[in-house]
Amino acid sequence: MHPSVSDLAHRIADVTLIDQHVHGCWLTPGDRQRFENALNEANTDPITHPGFDCQLGFAVRAHCGPLLGLPKHVAPEDYWSRRGQLGETELARLFLTAAGVSDWLVDTGVGGGVADTGEMAALSGNRAHEVVRLEEVAEQAAHAPGDYAAAFDEILHRRAAGAQNARHRGGRGEQGRERGGARAERGGERGHPGGGVAQGRGRWRDRGGVRLTDLVLLRFGLHRALRLRKPLQFHVGFGDRDCDLDRANPLLLLDFLRQSGDTPIVLLHCYPYEREAGYLAQAFNNVYVDGGLSVNHLGARSPAFIARLLELAPFGKIVYSSDGYGPAELHFLGAALWRKGIHRVVSGFVADGEWSEDDAVRVVNLIARDNAARIYRV
Ligand SMILES: [Zn+2]
Repeated sequence: MHPSVSDLAHRIADVTLIDQHVHGCWLTPGDRQRFENALNEANTDPITHPGFDCQLGFAVRAHCGPLLGLPKHVAPEDYWSRRGQLGETELARLFLTAAGVSDWLVDTGVGGGVADTGEMAALSGNRAHEVVRLEEVAEQAAHAPGDYAAAFDEILHRRAAGAQNARHRGGRGEQGRERGGARAERGGERGHPGGGVAQGRGRWRDRGGVRLTDLVLLRFGLHRALRLRKPLQFHVGFGDRDCDLDRANPLLLLDFLRQSGDTPIVLLHCYPYEREAGYLAQAFNNVYVDGGLSVNHLGARSPAFIARLLELAPFGKIVYSSDGYGPAELHFLGAALWRKGIHRVVSGFVADGEWSEDDAVRVVNLIARDNAARIYRV
């Protein structure tokens, strides 16, 4: 049986997604500056240009406006005032349910003021599972009495087990995750002697315990997390300017990946290193790629990015996420843009006679949910 191209469009519109890396959406009111800053990932200052004037801002007007009963491409002022009438909780219910996601894998380690795992489940009416952030475990271990290494292990195992028990509906949804991991592994130092870790804790505490950048502590956490043998997510490429983009190239993870055994390693964001990430997914059985966040920020240009993710990476090694954080628009938009982009790309392959329609449907299902369901067992 061969689905027609319009059938392909329907299958893509209807496939239920696993959003395998996401953060909470806002639940508290904020001003327009907060919203427009959330349309900009890299700038850590209050932005001084019109926030909607970027691909993501245009995509919000095109895709989110109609969900709020507004015309497509509605003016930013009108979008903002309509948004204000609804409030964050109502917006969250609306956008999360419209995303067509069955399971949210929620990284809870990025500050307060946003929905936690249980709230994401309640607001969307679907399942949510916790992703344990390794920097947060490190922070808790640094403040625990006694030996840092023992405290880290104890907290990591307890939090991983706790998340699992709390989310028994979906099974295992907790993953260690490390931001700026490419940078952490630069230099390829091996081993993590306990004395170095204790000194690392001292150095970090001396600096006031801000964002964890101590290489000894980062490497220690990564290697301990590997022992759990649960999927490990890495932010690579595009992020805020506090992470040096030139050192977030996933190729800098090569030494670490060679030591990572069969623990699934999922590379997040990837842009502008999606080709390097795709190479790594081909080179290592345990490496996966995910273009979340980048798809939202690339907006009308995201089909080209999605096409590049479909270059070297084997199709069983690509997963979907929105990486939404803050405005609930982003959790929905990731799904809307991905569906549109993947349709554009694979329908082109079919029209060229390079892919069969059956294969196109199968690959869409792999990326949308089957690959994530397999590695996270949700
Ligand atoms: Zn993230």
